[in-house]
Amino acid sequence: MTLRGTNQEFGRPFNRRIVLESIRLHAPIKRADIARRVGLTVQTVSTIVRELEEQGYILSLRDEPNGRGLPPSQLRINPDGGYAVGIHVTPLGVDAALVNLSGEVVESAHRDAPNATPDHAFELIGALVPELTGQRPGGRILGVGMALPGPFGVESMSFVGPTTMAGWQDVALRERLADTTGLPAFLETDMAASALGEQLYGLGTRFSDYYYLYFGYGLGGAMVHDGTVLRGAWGNAGEIGHIPAIPDGEPCPCGNRGCLERYLSLEALGRHAGGEAEWLRQIGPIFRNAIATIENLFDPETVVLGGLAPLDLLEKLTAAAQHLPNTVSARKDRASPRIVVTCGGHDSVLRGAAALAVSGVLSPRFGQMFETDEHRGAALRERGAAA
Ligand SMILES: [Zn+2]
Repeated sequence: MTLRGTNQEFGRPFNRRIVLESIRLHAPIKRADIARRVGLTVQTVSTIVRELEEQGYILSLRDEPNGRGLPPSQLRINPDGGYAVGIHVTPLGVDAALVNLSGEVVESAHRDAPNATPDHAFELIGALVPELTGQRPGGRILGVGMALPGPFGVESMSFVGPTTMAGWQDVALRERLADTTGLPAFLETDMAASALGEQLYGLGTRFSDYYYLYFGYGLGGAMVHDGTVLRGAWGNAGEIGHIPAIPDGEPCPCGNRGCLERYLSLEALGRHAGGEAEWLRQIGPIFRNAIATIENLFDPETVVLGGLAPLDLLEKLTAAAQHLPNTVSARKDRASPRIVVTCGGHDSVLRGAAALAVSGVLSPRFGQMFETDEHRGAALRERGAAA
């Protein structure tokens, strides 16, 4: 789906972002083609393009003259026009990556830190960030985004159990991240950050309405609707891992029994005594029912299977879901399979976390995507000032 420009509703910052996104998605592209795609005048696009070029966010390349005057220049994102750091804290350790404006991981690092306390994790982050940004001396660092297991702010459910982080409740994470790094800081659940990474740099170019199933140490997911990650009233939509799947099943640290992620997660696979093949056979029916639930709830174009699991395990899971139950998704006119494996891999979560920071520059949908009330207010003021 292509967003259209407007001078009414969002004003200039919005137009700037849709022009940038259009360049990112369709580069190399001419001014006139951008104007046609986003519904702005060529003059408006040219003004924005000049500004973005002066600021170093885009590059303009001209073909050799062909005898009939100068050919129009082609525009593309300047990959080195800016960088952001993406951080992923898991129960196993801290991953970090320096990501450029094209969404490519240019440097990355990992530190083992099983069940790290916030103090320990922020100490590692405080060392990792300058180590990564130091690899691009003089580069413009736009900010830092951190992804970690959710849910956030639910007493008795947040940061409890093996798939979450103990001792992290009541920590002002965003402020701590900003203080530690000295950069604009952003925060998300890992499943939503990963869905954002997929949307911006992965299968989001093929699908606009899909369910992103995050198969990590735990199990999560997010519905992407019209290119936007649905967040719920408190930003916790997608805790699919705690959907009750098996009556009187295994006890879950959330307090219930038989939750999906007790069977369907890397943590569950690790606990399973019988090895991967036997685990796959056992969880096959549970997985198929989960897919059926997702399809009937959301009517997605497809379910994208991603997260931290190795791609070959995701392929095996997909194979284990060969014969899916009948649902609203069992359509004859399907253009794609009901389950598709991510093309982003593990990097999706780091690229998504970094994108939280670059989105202010790159993504026109950001304003509808991940704003806190505080930021929403700031964005509205910005829009008001621009109008
Ligand atoms: Zn549970």
